[in-house]
Amino acid sequence: MAVATEKLKAGDVLYDTHSHKMGNTTMSCEGVWMCRVREVAEDGSWAPVSWNGNPARKHYRRLPNSWKRNPKEWVRTGWRGRECYMCNASEDDGHEPDCDHPRAVSRRKREAKAAAKAAKESPAPRGEGQPS
Ligand SMILES: [Zn+2]
Repeated sequence: MAVATEKLKAGDVLYDTHSHKMGNTTMSCEGVWMCRVREVAEDGSWAPVSWNGNPARKHYRRLPNSWKRNPKEWVRTGWRGRECYMCNASEDDGHEPDCDHPRAVSRRKREAKAAAKAAKESPAPRGEGQPS
């Protein structure tokens, strides 16, 4: 879903992920480009956004569909499979422990919660081999 300009605020960063052809081959890979919101009109109807460091261009109402609040979790950057845009880890290895990608962050939270719950639900073994 496209991001609406009225939801933006100055300083927001969006990520444009789309595929492109690699060099002069027929192989396509994906790239991520940062889009910086310079400001937002008072009524939210338009916003100048700078794509990949280029001069800002005005966007009205909706940003292009490929512009997201977060980069795709796994980006096919080349021959080596897919990697995380934020921590550069490969999909096979999973995110780095300090990766800032929202999916990685929420996964870490979920895992920590699950671990805490499991620790709570399975009380430490007692009585076994100990004098009562
Ligand atoms: Zn990552």
